Amino acid sequence: MAVLVTGGAGYIGSHMVLSLLKEAYEVVVVDNFCNSSPEALRRVCSIAERECSVVEGDIRDEAFLDKVFKENDITEVLHFAGLKAVGESVSAPLKYYDNNITGTLTLCRVMQRAGVRNLVFSSSATVYGDAKNMPISEDCPTGTPTNPYGRSKLIVEEILRDVAKSDPEWSIALLRYFNPVGAHESGLIGEDPMGEPNNLVPYVAQVAVGRRPRLSIFGGDYQTKDGTGVRDYIHVEDLVAGHLAAMKKLATEKGAKIWNLGTGHGSSVLEVVEAFQRVSGRDISYTIIDRREGDIPECWADPSHAKKELGWAATKSLNDMMADTWRWQSKNPDGYRS
Ligand code: NAD
Ligand code: UDP
Repeated sequence: MAVLVTGGAGYIGSHMVLSLLKEAYEVVVVDNFCNSSPEALRRVCSIAERECSVVEGDIRDEAFLDKVFKENDITEVLHFAGLKAVGESVSAPLKYYDNNITGTLTLCRVMQRAGVRNLVFSSSATVYGDAKNMPISEDCPTGTPTNPYGRSKLIVEEILRDVAKSDPEWSIALLRYFNPVGAHESGLIGEDPMGEPNNLVPYVAQVAVGRRPRLSIFGGDYQTKDGTGVRDYIHVEDLVAGHLAAMKKLATEKGAKIWNLGTGHGSSVLEVVEAFQRVSGRDISYTIIDRREGDIPECWADPSHAKKELGWAATKSLNDMMADTWRWQSKNPDGYRS
């Protein structure tokens, strides 16, 4: 019996694989390494002192995926594989819709043929659009995502809800992540963006380590506590624990379920910068510039539904998140190329 982790070499997937190995699961990873390095999984196996099976390939390749299911006794799937750069999704929408939607459709067809119907999907708080009331609970209606990446997540959620309705044997978790950050405490695995980071925390970490001269803060005139954007940052280890809880829940629950994975606490850009300076002892130069197109002022979760139904809650503080990010970044200034 094995868990299939699509995109298992990526930032969140690699932390997930480590946690599964530690919990004694057999793990099969499928990844085409379009945004990751095989080195991440070598390190995961070395920390866990266990092996996982790694199959290089694309989830849109149906014959390839059929073979993976034939050759392994897969009982559930954690589906991380996808493209996630918001800006790139605006300039290359077809690439994003193809990877994120066609990839999931192909995976579901193959799962159905193989008789495997337990699926955990990486969704995002972006499906709420610009929600008016904070915190955001799962019964808040989905909004209008401002870019093709966000729309691809919303479309896949709708597809998966239809799949679950069509066949009562399916158990599907739609996990809406808020802002995953941080790294494993070993400092051996972490987020390793290719090129210029789009997200705040990797950018701050690269400024701290001297790879980039300064941070641009997108907007200082929002109606928030200090004028900068507010988000619900969640430690990747807490996020991964939420997946384990959801996966276990699916063993006894049918249908499509939605759970927010967030801390319930919003931090501003300036609070993140201050926390990072504190834990790293480095100065983070920054300039406040215009707002970034498509950004929302604030977004944080009501995580009580996950607490009630999964018995899961985030435990790590913003300081923990920044300290673990800094350990990873300072030990690996050039990521997995260090
Ligand atoms: P990541 O890019 O680090 O990992 C994704 C992995 O999937 C990479 O290893 C990539 O090589 C692989 N992949 C992509 N397309 C593939 C394909 N067609 N076939 C096989 N492998 C493929 O991203 P991440 O941050 O680990 O995110 C994982 C998932 O969580 C993604 O679906 C992402 O959209 C979602 N998510 C991420 C965040 C975030 O802030 N990191 C927030 C919300 C949702
Ligand atoms: N942000 C910023 N500078 C950057 C990257 C992000 O000021 O270089 C801000 C952004 O405007 C938002 C917050 O940091 O208020 C989190 O942005 P991120 O892209 O990490 O997450 P998302 O906006 O997708 O929630």
